[in-house]
Amino acid sequence: MQTAQQLISDIRDCTLCRDTLPLGPRPVIQFSPEARILIAGQAPGRKVHQTGVAFDDASGDQLRNWLGINREQFYDATKVAILPMGFCYPGSGNNGDLPPRPECAETWREQLLAHLNKLDLILIIGQYALKYHLPQYKGSVTNAVKDWHTSWPRVLPMPHPSPRNRRWLKQHPWFEQQVLPVLRQRVSFILHHD
Ligand code: SF4
Repeated sequence: MQTAQQLISDIRDCTLCRDTLPLGPRPVIQFSPEARILIAGQAPGRKVHQTGVAFDDASGDQLRNWLGINREQFYDATKVAILPMGFCYPGSGNNGDLPPRPECAETWREQLLAHLNKLDLILIIGQYALKYHLPQYKGSVTNAVKDWHTSWPRVLPMPHPSPRNRRWLKQHPWFEQQVLPVLRQRVSFILHHD
């Protein structure tokens, strides 16, 4: 198995699906073999492609609030790994951003996960991460979030933290009322215990 350092270096140099990426390759990931929590999202948006910093936006603020952690904790790679299903911005279509490039997870994901031996919690955001990390689950993302306790405490399917998702949160108040307090408690425990 490659060292984690070599693997990250190979990913930074990756041009595998260059021809399909409107802004070219720019993998945006946060990774250390020491990480305890994995955020498995979809793919960087245009803004993240420009800054190179994952969740440095309103969605990130919401996500950090959901987890009960500050930016310093969130951007500490030895605590939190951020690995979207596609590492580069895939472009956008009529219905928003395009899906993550499938080659990305096929090529890199298993190798990266093999280095994450200290993981206690995987947070799933979106249908592509759901399909990968809970392949036995055949329902919708909303139903997966509703059935959160079936994969808890190892894996938690979540709604997208985007402010555009406010309507979903209003329609499903149990997420903030029941799931978030349990999630915050678990995240705090994980980050304060070796
Ligand atoms: S999306 Fe993934 S596979 Fe495609 S160029 Fe970026 S890092 Fe490589």
